[in-house]
Amino acid sequence: MMKVPYLDLKSQYLSLQSDIHEELNKVMESSEFAGGSFVARFEKEFAAFCDCRHAIGVGSGTEALWFSLLALGIGPGDEVITVPNTFIATAEAISFCGAKPVFVDIEEKTYGMDPALLEKAITNKTKAVIPVHIFGHPVHMDPILSIAKAHGLSVIEDACQAHGALYKGKRAGSMGAAGCFSFYPGKNLGAYGEAGAVVTNDPKINAMIRSMRDHGQSKKYYHDVLGWNGRMDGFQGAILSVKLKHLPRWNDQRRRHAHRYTQGLSSLKNVIVPIENKEAQHVYHIYAIRTKDRDTLMQYLQEKGIHCGIHYPIPIHLQKVYSHANHTQGSFPISETCATEFLSLPMYPELTEEQVSYVIDTINDFYRKKKGIQGDL
Ligand SMILES: *Cc1c(COP(=O)(O)O)cnc(C)c1O
Repeated sequence: MMKVPYLDLKSQYLSLQSDIHEELNKVMESSEFAGGSFVARFEKEFAAFCDCRHAIGVGSGTEALWFSLLALGIGPGDEVITVPNTFIATAEAISFCGAKPVFVDIEEKTYGMDPALLEKAITNKTKAVIPVHIFGHPVHMDPILSIAKAHGLSVIEDACQAHGALYKGKRAGSMGAAGCFSFYPGKNLGAYGEAGAVVTNDPKINAMIRSMRDHGQSKKYYHDVLGWNGRMDGFQGAILSVKLKHLPRWNDQRRRHAHRYTQGLSSLKNVIVPIENKEAQHVYHIYAIRTKDRDTLMQYLQEKGIHCGIHYPIPIHLQKVYSHANHTQGSFPISETCATEFLSLPMYPELTEEQVSYVIDTINDFYRKKKGIQGDL
C-alpha cells in the first residue's frame, strides 16, 4: 500500500542537505547565533521577495503579529477585527496587547474575511483589522483597505500561510501597514525551528519592531522603550536564505499538485474543491476540500495510508479560551460549517505524481463505494 504522509519535511531537507550544512557551518564559525549578519542578510532578501522596504526577523509568526499590533499602539480598550477561521495565534496576539478580538465571518468561496461584513463590526473602539490569507489564498484586499482607510484603521496582514501569494500582482503581506509571516517548519517557507518576520514599508514600524525585538535598546544596554527578546536566531536566518531561493519553484509545484487534485475531484458532487480568484495567485499552503462526509472520508483515507489534517476543527469564537466573550453556535455560520467540513489533503512540493494520483483515486473509490451502498449518491 502506498503511504502518503500529510507532511514530509525530511525529503526537502535531503534535497538541500549540502547547502544547508555549509551555511550552518558558517554560522558556527562566525558564532553569530542570536541575530547577526545571517539574519540581516535574510531580512534583505525577504524584503525584496515581498516587494517591501523592510523585513524584520523575529522569533515566530505569533510574535510578528504581536509586535505589529504593539508598534501600531494597540492596547487595552481597543478592538481589532479578524476572522474566526484562523490559527489561534491571530487572536492571541490581539489579546496579549490587552485589546479585544472582534470577529467577522468569512466568505464562502475563498474562506477569507468577507469585506461586506466588515463595516458592521467597526465601533469607535476599533483600531485595526487583521485579514488572514488563509490556506495561501489572498483575501479581497482592496475593499478591506478602502473600508479601513475610511474609518482610520490600520490593516495588518496575517500572511503566515501565504509566502509568495499574489493579489492583483502584489505580494501577500505587502499591502497593509505590516505583513506578518511565520517560518514554522511546515509553512511554505519553513525554518528548522521557530522563526517569523514582519514586512513593512513604514520606517516607523520598522524602527519600532527592530527596537522592540531587542529589549527596546537603541544601543547596547540603553533601553528607550519597553521591549522583549524577540530576535530570530542565526541558524534560522541562514537556513531561510538557502530555502528562499527555492520558494517560487516549490510554490509552483504546490500549484501543480493542487490543479491535479482539483481536476481529479471536481466531478464529485459531494466535494467542494478550493477555488482561485482571477485576481489571485494561491500558494496552497493547505489544500482543503469541503465535504459533509469529512470524518468518515478521513478515516477511510487513513486506512489506505493517506494522512490528512483539519484546519481547524473549532473556530476561535467557540474555543474555551474565548468563552468569556459569550459567542454562541450560529454567530459565524460559514466559519462554523467549514470547520465541520474542511479536510486538508497531503500538500507539499515533494509529493510525487503517483502519490497525488493515489489520493485522487482513493477519494473517488470512497464515493463509489458509498454510492454502491446508498444507491443515489
Ligand atoms: C502559523 C500561523 C501563525 C503563527 O505562526 P507561528 O510561527 O507558529 O507563531 C499565525 N497565523 C496563522 C494563520 C498561521 O498559520
